[in-house]
Amino acid sequence: MSGRLPEVEWIWRDGEFIPWGEAKVHVLSLAVQFGSSVFEGMRCYETPRGLAIFRLQAHLRRLFDSCRVYRIELPHSADDLAAACTAVVERNGLSECYVRPTIVRGYGSSSMVPDESPVETYIAAWPWGAYLGEEALTQGVDVCVSSWQRMQPNTFPAVAKAAGHYTNAQLIKMEAIAHGYVEAIALGPGGLVSEGSGQNLFLVRDGTLIAPAIDGTALPGITQNSVLTIAEDLSIPVVRQAVPRETLYTADELFFTGTATEVTPIRSVDRITIGEGRAGPITMQLQQQFLAVVHGKVPDKHGWLTYVNQPAEVGASEG
Ligand code: PMP
Repeated sequence: MSGRLPEVEWIWRDGEFIPWGEAKVHVLSLAVQFGSSVFEGMRCYETPRGLAIFRLQAHLRRLFDSCRVYRIELPHSADDLAAACTAVVERNGLSECYVRPTIVRGYGSSSMVPDESPVETYIAAWPWGAYLGEEALTQGVDVCVSSWQRMQPNTFPAVAKAAGHYTNAQLIKMEAIAHGYVEAIALGPGGLVSEGSGQNLFLVRDGTLIAPAIDGTALPGITQNSVLTIAEDLSIPVVRQAVPRETLYTADELFFTGTATEVTPIRSVDRITIGEGRAGPITMQLQQQFLAVVHGKVPDKHGWLTYVNQPAEVGASEG
């Protein structure tokens, strides 16, 4: 999905709510100058028991991981941020929405050394629909392999969700759109498949679900982890392995996963039809179960839902 941000009333900043329009940073902040900011993106879904944020604890864990890698000291606990995330949704009277915690290195330091720049934490939320278009979830999407690669390990730390890394993601996404695709698959520096601009990728071949090996070029997605867990629950065999580019074209099924993207089938790559050219049976089985879990239509056996109106119960079982 593209277009303008739908504005709501309040943004949380370091313990208080401020009007949306006042959530600003200086042009000379390290966040603007050097992309020195880490963030998360979560979805909040309607369920029969009310609104619930999906995998809030796991997203906050990754946010703290991003801070650790970039030596950012957060003055907030995970519990405080969890409470703030649900409060932002409630305070703005939102229904289904996207929640975006962002930690920036602010204004003050004259160089890359951040000691004069305060760390500021913001949490915003806004209504959000299907990321790759309304029909993507059922019809699948047409994608290409990007001419841009993902980062070499030990250059930009792929485990961290840092704003600066997304200049690479923008190149991948903008090129895909310029060439008439909705999204692209990027290779890593070794020529093997890495991930999309903002989503992970799965292949299916002969009934086995294949996830690209962890190689320091892709963000470890929380939706990817959820789908791997659901596959295990459904007794679908899973392997993680190196994925050469050509195995994309010969896969029986391909699909993307991500918070924004959810579980989206891929029907062609570089105009080569994947399988039957529509969402395959394993993709649809996993998508159906994923959507049932996020919408609270099946028991939350992994403790993945944090109810917005009952913060005390929050995702209690997920560590
Ligand atoms: N890769 C990148 C580069 C991303 O930005 C995202 C979205 N956060 C993902 C993968 C998918 O991660 P998740 O399932 O946690 O949203």
